[in-house]
Amino acid sequence: MSYMDHSATSPVNPEVLKEMLPYFTESFGNASTLYALGREARTAMEKARKQVASLIGAQPEEVYFTSGGTESDNIAIKGTASKLKNKGNHIITSDIEHPAVEETCKYLEKNGYQVTYLPVGEEGIVKVSDVETAITPETILITVMHANNEIGTIQPIKEIGALAREKGIYFHTDAVQSVGKIPVNVGDMNVDMLSISAHKLYGPKGIGALYIRKGVRIDPLLHGGGHERGMRPGTENIPGIVGLGKACQIAEDNLEKNMEYVSSLRDRLIKGVLGKIEQSYLNGHPTKRLPNNANFRFSSIEGESLVLQLDAKGINASTGSACSSKKLEPSHVLMAIGLKEVDAHGSLRISLGTENTPQDIDYTIDAIDEVVERLRSMSPLWCATPEDA
Ligand SMILES: *Cc1c(COP(=O)(O)O)cnc(C)c1O
Repeated sequence: MSYMDHSATSPVNPEVLKEMLPYFTESFGNASTLYALGREARTAMEKARKQVASLIGAQPEEVYFTSGGTESDNIAIKGTASKLKNKGNHIITSDIEHPAVEETCKYLEKNGYQVTYLPVGEEGIVKVSDVETAITPETILITVMHANNEIGTIQPIKEIGALAREKGIYFHTDAVQSVGKIPVNVGDMNVDMLSISAHKLYGPKGIGALYIRKGVRIDPLLHGGGHERGMRPGTENIPGIVGLGKACQIAEDNLEKNMEYVSSLRDRLIKGVLGKIEQSYLNGHPTKRLPNNANFRFSSIEGESLVLQLDAKGINASTGSACSSKKLEPSHVLMAIGLKEVDAHGSLRISLGTENTPQDIDYTIDAIDEVVERLRSMSPLWCATPEDA
């Protein structure tokens, strides 16, 4: 089997699992208790907080553990909206956000907030000048993702952050796809808040973190015991936190090496597919993209059929994001880069991981070629010379 859907989730690294296991059984203490067992849990949690902070260039006390990327996005956006409701009611975001950001913004729109969704153009990149134009005296938050989960494009976060800072507006970025894959430094990037999820970087599901810069004041969503300095009450998920910390440490130790390796696989894949299959195209930006992402479109192909036939050949890939692949509407990201609905439906996302090999890539290129040819031979729409050629 070739697992090539790492943007949906990744396997837990065996070293991460090994580090987590004792915290389910012998070291099961509640981190809020005073005795040795509790202190042990607390020590493990603070070690993990340092590991997360180190990977993103933050101070440990700026890292808050949450249940994952979705929760981190919700706290950052709703927490700001709630805290600053007397200051303004306007939020700026982009057309290509993950549903965790998009749907949160839509929810706020129903509750009296104004949201500007910035276009991204056909390469899938937000223009800093568009952000500037969208700012009003009412703007309280800018939230633009670091790297897109479908087409892998990397946004000009540092520049948007500098602008936000100059205007005194909080800036949040969803960095779930980028943390552990490319360098992420909260200082360099001028961000006030940044979302992380463990299961996208070889850690367990159901655990993540929100970076909140010292001095940034937002409201919590949950109220309860004082855990995570009141920002996220609830008895801490120590095994998950330990897993997230270990995954971050491994990612930091291997960042350069993994980037180089995975991007060489990606380039081999892109070259192979575009070279071998007629009327195949790459979605997104040619270079400003994640080292592990390739998103293709094939004329006269139904993405769902392609994914199912690749599955039959042992290859796991996606049509769009895992979250949208259950819906029948085309991906909002592919529509935002200007694809026609039929082309958006004919797209395939391949997101690679460190356990993939060059042999996997060559097998995948051949498999896609074979499946695309078979599907086209059955398609009444397929025409080897496109009308507009
Ligand atoms: C996966 C993902 C999320 C959601 O993270 P969960 O931990 O699954 O809640 C948010 N944003 C992006 C960009 C993602 O890829």
